[in-house]
Amino acid sequence: MKHYILFGPPGAGKGTQAALMVEKYDLRHISTGDLLRREIKAGTELGRQAAALIEKGNLVPDEVVEGMILSELEAHPDVKGFIYDGFPRTVAQAEVLDKMLSARGEAVTAVISIMIDDRMVLERIKHRALLENRKDDADESIILNRIRNYHAKTEPVIGFYKAEGKYNEINGEGAVEEIFGRILSVL
Ligand code: AMP
Repeated sequence: MKHYILFGPPGAGKGTQAALMVEKYDLRHISTGDLLRREIKAGTELGRQAAALIEKGNLVPDEVVEGMILSELEAHPDVKGFIYDGFPRTVAQAEVLDKMLSARGEAVTAVISIMIDDRMVLERIKHRALLENRKDDADESIILNRIRNYHAKTEPVIGFYKAEGKYNEINGEGAVEEIFGRILSVL
């Protein structure tokens, strides 16, 4: 079973590229952001707690997203593989994913990191705010906090996968198809 991680800062285009990979390789898409937004919409207790953090641009606790990932893995034993989008976002999450997969005799296949700079993160998210109704996209100070959290908590995940020899980085600037082409050339 394949386990691809799409990595990158907020607004890098992970969701868009994940959808193209799903289409081409018949993988199951796991977006922790989408799963959390679903909980919020459903009005669950988990959703209520997550909303308070997400709306400020803060990460939700590792255990929460790890639990969601485990449920997804257990719910879909027969798929060709998974594409993780927005997970892992901390080194602790990366470590737990490795453990969950090795318990199943599996491992992360490759990490594809879509890189854009902070200026473009801000630009892209402001543009997305006009198209999607995400509270965490609507306010510049919240976007800046997400960028800060990305550098402080998520960027160290790069070193984790470099050490495993699984890290691949591509330039996230350009047209959607152009970026997808770069992903294909890595895979
Ligand atoms: P995303 O849709 O990936 O941009 O995620 C939206 C928000 O959900 C993030 O800003 C975080 O608050 C939360 N979130 C999503 N994935 C994770 C994760 N793996 N760990 C912690 N928080 C997450």
